[in-house]
Amino acid sequence: MEKIYDIGIVGGGPAGYTAALHAAARGLSVILFEKDCVGGVCLNKGCIPTKTILHSAELFEELKCGESIGIFTSDLTVDFAKVIEHKNQVVLKLRKSLELMLKNRKVTIVNSKAKILDSGTIEADGKRYECSKIIAAVGSEPGKLCGIEFDHKSILSSDDVLNRTTLPKSIVIIGSGAIGTEWARIFSAFGSEVFVVESADCLLPAADFEVSKRLERIFKSKKIKVYKGTKVSNIEVNGSCKVYLENGEVIETEKVLAAVGRKPCDTEKIEGVSYIGDACGEIQLAHFAIKQAISEIDGIFFDKKLVPSVIYGNPEIAWVGKREQDLEDGTYKKSLLLISALGKSQCDNSVDGFIKLLSQDGKIVGAHIISKEASSLIHQVLIAMQNNIGVEKLKEVCFAHPTYSEGIFEALFNL
Ligand SMILES: Cc1cc2nc3c(=O)[nH]c(=O)nc-3n(C[C@H](O)[C@H](O)[C@H](O)COP(=O)(O)OP(=O)(O)OC[C@H]3O[C@@H](n4cnc5c(N)ncnc54)[C@H](O)[C@@H]3O)c2cc1C
Repeated sequence: MEKIYDIGIVGGGPAGYTAALHAAARGLSVILFEKDCVGGVCLNKGCIPTKTILHSAELFEELKCGESIGIFTSDLTVDFAKVIEHKNQVVLKLRKSLELMLKNRKVTIVNSKAKILDSGTIEADGKRYECSKIIAAVGSEPGKLCGIEFDHKSILSSDDVLNRTTLPKSIVIIGSGAIGTEWARIFSAFGSEVFVVESADCLLPAADFEVSKRLERIFKSKKIKVYKGTKVSNIEVNGSCKVYLENGEVIETEKVLAAVGRKPCDTEKIEGVSYIGDACGEIQLAHFAIKQAISEIDGIFFDKKLVPSVIYGNPEIAWVGKREQDLEDGTYKKSLLLISALGKSQCDNSVDGFIKLLSQDGKIVGAHIISKEASSLIHQVLIAMQNNIGVEKLKEVCFAHPTYSEGIFEALFNL
């Protein structure tokens, strides 16, 4: 039996490394087991790589349309292998800095697959480690389509698609959640023909209905073809992919990306062990994993109903709190401000979107934003919601001009 640790953590993603860093900062002895790379899905296969590729895609798309604002770029081309290389460099840089932080905090890292034997023992590489407390932060893996296997060449998962250095001429993306929507935006910006198949009756089914509708309009403007309310029943791969839909339609493309959600790893739970992050199967977001880790170690709790959602790309989409379809008629007020009304949006040539606020009894209960900078804007509303700051009090705040934040200020006056 190895030395006794105060805390043993299995999994070095956002949940695991945050728990490790915070526990070590409290002077506890920490051992962290990671079978792959620290940073987990978020840093190596999720948030960071996709947002880096998305940044290249947005820049390319913006420059393509530069002529209308006086920017002429002749022979604008994309070297997708270089885009991926750049993404790899960003990931590597962040991973090295995370490894250094863990080292500086004196967290012991074991680079192996670990097995939790009971609430006080972890086994890895044939050795047993005794820990006073064990946290399982083992994450999640791509969900499979019923009856359809990934072949990792033509039928791709969100892991496979990250390291391909060539762009497909055409691609079917199954699922229009965050991952499907972001990849649809990436491929479309780089010029691939994109088809999105969504089994629900609207795109981005978790969003407010007006956000879903507007996203469909945005997709249409980018020539992304949408198939709603139908499922993929079969895929035949023979050079190209023939994608059969339940509604009888058939789409022929070079590749298929299945972005149909993720399932928690290690579903068998051991009593006395804390399961946090994607592994606990609640909300599969990095910031949720991080907040859970901080709650676990520092006892700083948070309201699970106030976890923001963000979909990146042009324009960004962000929301928090209640959706309009979840509120009963006559019990709420609604304000919808078009982004095109803001001076800053005209300056930036980024006029698509809206800020929608929903209030009940003088307090904001939901915010739904489609706009450049939506990922930051949402936090202004979130801080007010979390702290019970009412609409009238918010009207006292002085917002700078010209900004997108002014849109939030303007929207308050219709509540
Ligand atoms: C394409 C994509 C884009 C995403 N974009 C966003 C985004 O923009 N914003 C956002 O908030 N979320 C995003 N997510 C979700 C986010 O990545 C996850 O919610 C987050 O990574 C969960 O953190 P975690 O620590 O719970 O698990 P993970 O990040 O999955 O980490 C778990 C770690 O545990 C390790 N592990 C598992 N089993 C063992 C074992 N037995 N022994 C040792 N190690 C083990 C794994 O190797 C892994 O490193 C995205 C996900 C994907 C796939």
